[in-house]
Order: sequence, then C-alpha cells, then structure tokens
Amino acid sequence: EAVKNIEARDEKVKAYLTVDEEGARAAARRLDDRLASGGERGLLFGLPVGIKDNIVTEGLRTTCASQFLSNFNPVYDATVVKKLNAADAVTLGKMNMDEFAMGGSNENSSFYPTRNPWDLDRVPGGSSGGSAAAVAAGEAYFTLGSDTGGSIRQPASYCGVVGLKPTYGLVSRFGLVAFASSLDQIGPITKNVEDSAYVLQAIAGYDAMDSTSAKVEVPDYLSNLTGDVKGLRIAVPKEYLGEGVDPQVKERVLEALKTLEGMGAVWEEVSLPHTEYAVATYYLLASSEASSNLARFDGVRYGVRADNPENLLDLYHQSRTQGFGPEVKRRIMLGTYALSSGYYDAYYLKAQKVRTLIKRDFDQVFEKYDVIIGPTAPTTAFKLGAQVDDPLTMYLNDILTIPVSLAGVPAISIPCGFAEGLPVGLQIIGKPFDEAQVLRVAHAFE
Ligand code: GLN
Repeated sequence: EAVKNIEARDEKVKAYLTVDEEGARAAARRLDDRLASGGERGLLFGLPVGIKDNIVTEGLRTTCASQFLSNFNPVYDATVVKKLNAADAVTLGKMNMDEFAMGGSNENSSFYPTRNPWDLDRVPGGSSGGSAAAVAAGEAYFTLGSDTGGSIRQPASYCGVVGLKPTYGLVSRFGLVAFASSLDQIGPITKNVEDSAYVLQAIAGYDAMDSTSAKVEVPDYLSNLTGDVKGLRIAVPKEYLGEGVDPQVKERVLEALKTLEGMGAVWEEVSLPHTEYAVATYYLLASSEASSNLARFDGVRYGVRADNPENLLDLYHQSRTQGFGPEVKRRIMLGTYALSSGYYDAYYLKAQKVRTLIKRDFDQVFEKYDVIIGPTAPTTAFKLGAQVDDPLTMYLNDILTIPVSLAGVPAISIPCGFAEGLPVGLQIIGKPFDEAQVLRVAHAFE
C-alpha cells in the first residue's frame, strides 16, 4: 500500500531520494512470518517509515542530498534506525532534504527540490522537507527528521503535520551526519500527536555511542496523553507575535490560546529579551561547527573523489569544490572565518556568551510557567524560488525556532488552522526533558 502511494504521488511531490522497495517488502515478509509463527508485535509493528537522508542506514544509500555522498553506502545503522527496526517499523526509503541540512526550503538539495503537497508551487520547508511532505502526502506513515535550528518544526508547520524536536541529548545522534553537533537532534514527523508519542517512545534513551546522550529515565509518553490542561500556565513571548509575523498566523495562534483557555489553561505575555540576537548567534555557531564537522569530507574517506588530481592537496581541493553546493560552501567559509585566530574571540566566543543569555531567558520564564507557546514560523509556505537569491531573508524564517535550539529545550509544531488555504503551525515549547508535558498539551489541543 505504502509503496503504491509513493509510486502514485512522488512524481509530483519528490519527497524521496531513494526508495527501497525490495528491502521494505523483505522486512514486511519477515514480520508476517513472525506473526504467523505466533511471535510478538513491536511498538511500531509494520508501520512504513521514511528516514531523512542524513541518518545512516546500513547498505542503503545515504547522500545528505549532496553530490559529495551520491555514491555513499554506509556500513552500519544509526542508533535510531536500529531502534525503529527493533520496534518492527519498516523502512521505505530515504527522504530529500537541504544539502547537509543547511536550509529551510529543500531548494538546497543537490538533486531536486521537494514540493509542498498543499500547493505544488510552494516549498515544503526544510531542511527535513522531504520527511514532512511525505507524511502530508501519505507517502509514509511517519518519518524521521533532524532539527538543528528548526528543520523538523518549520517543515512540519508548512506541510500541516506534527513535528517534534526533543531535548538535546534525549535521542541518540549516533549515525546522524553531523551539521552542528551542539544543536542537532533527531525527532519524529507524524500525522498526529499520539503517533509522535509512540515514535519518541521507541527512539528516546541513553546511548553509549553518543557522548552527549543524556542519562535520563524515559517516561511513558502515551499514558501522559490525558487531554487535561486544567491549571496549565502558558507563557506567550511578545517577541514571537511581533514585527515580521504574518497577521493571519498571529490570529490563528491567538485563537489556539483561546481554545486552551477554554479548557482551563491560563496564559500571560512574557518577554524573551535576547530573541533578536538568536539568528546571528545561530549562524555563527552552527557554521563554525559545520566548518569543523565537514572537514572530514576530503575525497579520501567518504563519497566522491575528484578525477586526475595533481597531488594530495589538489585532491582535497577539487573534491570539495565539486562535491559541495553553494550554501554549504558559504557556511564553511563563514565558520572557518569565525573560528580563525584573531576573530575567534570577537565572533565565536561572543556568540557562545549570547547563547548562554538566550538559554537564561528560557530558564527564567520556566520558573513561573509550564510551557511557552507561539507560532512555529512567521509565515506559511512560500513560493519555490521566492527566496533563493536572498540567503538573509531565508535565514529569518527560522527566527522562532532557532532560540529553542540554542537553549536545547524540546518543542513541537502542530497544525492550528489555515491562512489562505495553507497550514499554520503552533509551537509548544517545554522545559528540558519535559516532552511528556509538551505532548500532553499538544494532544489536548489537537
Ligand atoms: N534553516 C536552518 C538552517 O539553514 C535550520 C536548519 C536545520 O535545522 N538543520 O540552518
């Protein structure tokens, strides 16, 4: 069924980079056999899943949507993939994305852009655009995305589906191709909140293979979906409903708050005063980390190697020149500059300090409130091509998701109505490791 849907719809949506029909059928047969012989059903038994193409899958091509890795077949599974397999999910294939997860529209994929199923002339968001579009179009039951500055939540918002970015450290990053290691998190993209809780249950938890994995107890997320939000204290940052936010998006969010109020929650306006510095801070830190992480792509160890190099240096040079797209090069240059001696103190170190201030904004609000609510993105999905020549405008799409990433706290984007026929996303942000609360509120609202 799932494979048929891909065949019927993906020609238009282009959410997949690789479809593993054979592998999926073999996995489904194994599950059938087990059932026939009286075996148990795992938590995600038989559910067809699509994996973002920066999460490695053994023997299944993993490209990060980059020409550099167009021939790369990993020799192991990421921890999350192992966990999905253990829960009996069936992998359908690998999802399109912005190259190395750098971007917010899928237009930075070096293969082809994914389209928004609600309007094929519009972007699905990014960088997990293929993952979000596939769920919206029914081309996978659920998918995994990765979120460094908004890459799960923003495409979920644009495509009208549910996207959860867990607390930094809750889900193992082992086998996720690193973009900015201090920010990257893997999370589920699903049709509804209950499914999100199921998938998180399956993938969360300590992993010795990831040195930043947190040693925390994983609660029972499902039993938390009570529908009750009585007495819930909601903070609404004034910076999240101010300048630059589309009036219709703002209206939908205020309506959502009214609905929650009707269910017994209370909300108040608060301030996260360092919000205005978040985008600049993020682009310095994320690019710095990327310039270091992407140094491993040298034409020797991974992926494509340039033909006829003159010497070793030329091999590096040519392989990187040919392998990386323009946005990736832009970030490597920015990051290398920010980390270079003489500039390190002025840019990288300064950005680290501002990151602490941004984190402190959240800590202070969470002393008095249970969750923070606002829009996921300032606008709905924009037209393909509308922002490609203007990286700065593109960067500002993430102004409401980036602060959350810098603070390392969990947040979910859920659909909250439409503006001119396009889905609007509501962002619910929680305390560190309080995914249970975030899911409970999201589920009650849904
Ligand atoms: N759009 C943001 C960027 O380009 C976020 C990407 C992400 O979360 N991976 O960096």
